[in-house]
Amino acid sequence: MKNYNKLIITLLLSVFYSFSYAQQTFIYCGSLIDGKSNDAMKEMTIVVEDNKIVSVEKGYKNAGKKDTVIDLKGHTVMPGLMDMHVHIEGQTSPTRYIDRFRLNPADVALKATQYTEITLMAGFTTVRDLGGSGVNMSLRDAITKGFIVGPRIYTAEKSIATTGGHADPTNGVKSDMMGDPGPKEGVINGPDDARKAVRQRYKNGADVIKITATGGVLSVARDGKRPQFSDEELRAIVETANDYNMVTAAHAHGDEGMRRAVAAGINSIEHGTLMSEETMDLMIEKGTYYVPTIIAGKTAEKFAKIEGYYPAVVVPKALAIGPKIQETFSKAYKKGVKIAFGTDAGVFNHGDNWMEFQYMTEAGMPAMEAIKSATMSAATLLRVDDQLGSIEAGKLADIIATPGNPLENIDAMGNITFVMKDGVVYKGE
Ligand SMILES: [Zn+2]
Repeated sequence: MKNYNKLIITLLLSVFYSFSYAQQTFIYCGSLIDGKSNDAMKEMTIVVEDNKIVSVEKGYKNAGKKDTVIDLKGHTVMPGLMDMHVHIEGQTSPTRYIDRFRLNPADVALKATQYTEITLMAGFTTVRDLGGSGVNMSLRDAITKGFIVGPRIYTAEKSIATTGGHADPTNGVKSDMMGDPGPKEGVINGPDDARKAVRQRYKNGADVIKITATGGVLSVARDGKRPQFSDEELRAIVETANDYNMVTAAHAHGDEGMRRAVAAGINSIEHGTLMSEETMDLMIEKGTYYVPTIIAGKTAEKFAKIEGYYPAVVVPKALAIGPKIQETFSKAYKKGVKIAFGTDAGVFNHGDNWMEFQYMTEAGMPAMEAIKSATMSAATLLRVDDQLGSIEAGKLADIIATPGNPLENIDAMGNITFVMKDGVVYKGE
């Protein structure tokens, strides 16, 4: 009995010690942009334990003997960046259209491990993947399990389109290969199909729902902007997605298609190229986010000028639509439409996502606002603002830093030298 008591006491003591001596990481921040405040704070300490931020304190706090200190006194420290529109499976290339017929899913996945790593190293600790083949879900899971390095991924799996629409996977192929893809492959006609396509995405393991509400630039189809869903199809998609608490996103270039999507209750409009003032007002009224992807438009325009880079049917669309996004963004931002950061990475090289900050600030958005659009606003759109988006006690330790000051020179966003995700340091110190 005596020995038994002794054992209990030893156990209790060891539990007590493990709590009181839990190892912590002290991050000294020369300047801290926390994702919520309007100003950067000087000389702060972030205390991290396991994968969580336990406190954010003024001054450089003394660390215990067993604690780790990360000295970023010469840096600007920020929450991990969040890109709300990427395609992590692939990257632009003149062979992209033919690669669909040459690459197996394993080839796609192995290549994409480069894209996930470069994205994380650029400071993007979370991305929303808005459409691929389904390999995007395996990439997400491999990252979560620690098999490969990359950002947290919230994925739409496959985009949902209508027959011949922007995300119909059989557009532009010879007739005996076209088949008639249905809701299982994300192609719908009518509200019943729409519900089935959403439920199939849920069953497959998608986190969010993406639709292509209008024609698109890079699909092998004539039209880049007209509406491609009826009101009742859109309502069926949004209602079903809401049943599963899945955030909805609509690719849209033309105004009528995006107006219908906003009216149906979609959570974000992607690209939004030809957005009218009335649609902006409707978005403000409905609380719809605008995810601009200015860099995608600029890149598509640039590549369209290289002969043979895109199929011929894509070129006039890229030249007409590409350059317009920045001006639309400028108008929408000034009018008060909610903005969440997104780039369409994959349409340009992964890792260059930060250049969107240059285009946003060039169009009149202050640097602090642009950073918030890629942190707190993005987290709110994704409904993960209780865990991500700011540097606050209780949130997950996704923390990055640059030796520059992005509030004075936005190019500093392209020089991220420290990356912590989920409390683990992937770059720097
Ligand atoms: Zn896209």
